[in-house]
Amino acid sequence: MILGSDFDNTMVDYNALFYQAALGIGLVDGSVAANKTAVRDHIRKSDGGEILWQKLQAEVYGPRINEAVLFLGLCDFLTLCIKNKIPVYVVSHKTRFACRGDVDLREAALSFMEKNDLFNSSPYGLSLERVFFVDSRYEKGEIIKSLNCDVFVDDLIEVFCESSFPADISKFMFAPQVIETPLEVDSLLEIEMVKTWDELSEIIFAEPFISTVGLKDGK
Ligand SMILES: [Mg+2]
Repeated sequence: MILGSDFDNTMVDYNALFYQAALGIGLVDGSVAANKTAVRDHIRKSDGGEILWQKLQAEVYGPRINEAVLFLGLCDFLTLCIKNKIPVYVVSHKTRFACRGDVDLREAALSFMEKNDLFNSSPYGLSLERVFFVDSRYEKGEIIKSLNCDVFVDDLIEVFCESSFPADISKFMFAPQVIETPLEVDSLLEIEMVKTWDELSEIIFAEPFISTVGLKDGK
C-alpha cells in the first residue's frame, strides 16, 4: 500500500494559531469561535476582508508556521505506517510565495516538518524525498497518480473532484469539524469522511482494508 496525504489543515492543525494571530491584531474578538473557518468567515465580512484574510494566511503559513501543531493522532498513524511498511507521501498545493507575503512557504513547511520530527531514517513512513509541493490542484492530482498512491487524505473535497485525480484510489476526506458535503458528489466519488487520524487508523490498519488494498498489487 502507498499512502498520500495533503499537508495544510490535514496534517497540520492551524485552528488555534489562526485565532490567536487574528486576535493579536484585532481582527476578531472573544465572540468568534477559535477555529480557522470561523475566523475566516468573520474577517471576510469586514471592509477589505479578503485582503486582510490573505495577509493573515501569509503570516500563519509563513513566519508563524512553527506555532501550529500536528493534528492529534498523526504521529501514531505514521508509526503504524512504518510498522506496516507503508511509504507515506505528502502532496501539497502550496505556491512558493503567498500573494501578500515574502516568506518562502515551502521552506517554512519543510522546517515545520523537521522541527516536528516527521522525517526519520526508516525506509517507510515520511521522509524529505517524499514531500511534493505543486502550484495547482490539477498538478496535485497528476502527482498523486504518478506516485501510484492507493489512498489519499485531504481536507478539501475539490481535490478529489479534480479531473486529474486518479479514479481507482481510496479517498478519505479529513473533516475534524462537521461540514456539509453535497451528498451526490460524496456518493459518486466514494469519499469517506474521517474526523481524526485515529479514526483513519482504525479503517486502514484493520481488515478488510489492509488486506484488500495492501495486497492489491503486491505493494
Ligand atoms: Mg489542505
